[in-house]
Amino acid sequence: MHSLRNLLQEAQENGVAIGHFNISDLVLLKAVFAAARELNVPVLVGLSEGEREFVGVRQIAAFVRSLREEFDFPIFLNADHTHSLAKGVEAAKAGFDSIVFDLSALTIEENVRQTKQAVEKLKAINPSVLVEGEIGDIGTGSEIHESSPDVSKGLSTPGEAKYFVESTAVDVLAPSVGNTHGMLRSMVQGESKKHLDIERIAGIKRDAQVFLTLHGGSGTDDEDLRQAIAAGINIIHINTELRVAWRDGLEHGLGKHPGEVVPYKILPPAVEAVKEVVGSRLRLFNGGRHAAQGA
Ligand SMILES: [Zn+2]
Repeated sequence: MHSLRNLLQEAQENGVAIGHFNISDLVLLKAVFAAARELNVPVLVGLSEGEREFVGVRQIAAFVRSLREEFDFPIFLNADHTHSLAKGVEAAKAGFDSIVFDLSALTIEENVRQTKQAVEKLKAINPSVLVEGEIGDIGTGSEIHESSPDVSKGLSTPGEAKYFVESTAVDVLAPSVGNTHGMLRSMVQGESKKHLDIERIAGIKRDAQVFLTLHGGSGTDDEDLRQAIAAGINIIHINTELRVAWRDGLEHGLGKHPGEVVPYKILPPAVEAVKEVVGSRLRLFNGGRHAAQGA
């Protein structure tokens, strides 16, 4: 079994990206795993602090590990948006493969100081854990927003990225390059798309020379995502699109079986709806090379 670091290196060499999908229940986990297996591509599942609180830190680690071992499949677990060292330590001890340490709300100096400490502390617990640092402003909340946040003042620069990476020794960097968390209602309806600053991504990659994550990928234009990968993005986060599919699928399952109370009879349409979104995003991130597989 390859390590996550090796798979990221491979993805970079092949000009593809690894999909990261947030989960907070078994429906989402089943859907992500099934889509990735069908396409035979590595995949990351992530849980924010809130999602981990709901599912259980050690419980989800055991679940993902059991899938990886039983099916000998490259599914990895990420502690998404971790805002304190204590929560990071908890995830590292539970066996998470990577940790997003997010102090992007602080000043860059304070972010550097505390992220550097976190990298040392987390690697002392597990030397192979990958630590991602965050700079700039990409908004908050993977949900449906009424208006888009103005992140124009929080865009990351190549110089800032280079300084942050060299000062903290993070393995992965999440910059602000036009991406934002969540989706507008018009994006859910397919009437508008997010666009990315591709030149900024290329400049950050050139100067910082590090793996890059794109957060808030939901609702982003497909062509922008392709270009972002070509410019150096290695991991792409999708959350809100899955949440929308989860709700639609659940409503469909409930509507289809009025009076039914058996969860495993109600929930399959939710698994299918999420799986479809994950599959289409994974095909895009992997250059469409796997589109025909399993057909
Ligand atoms: Zn994020």
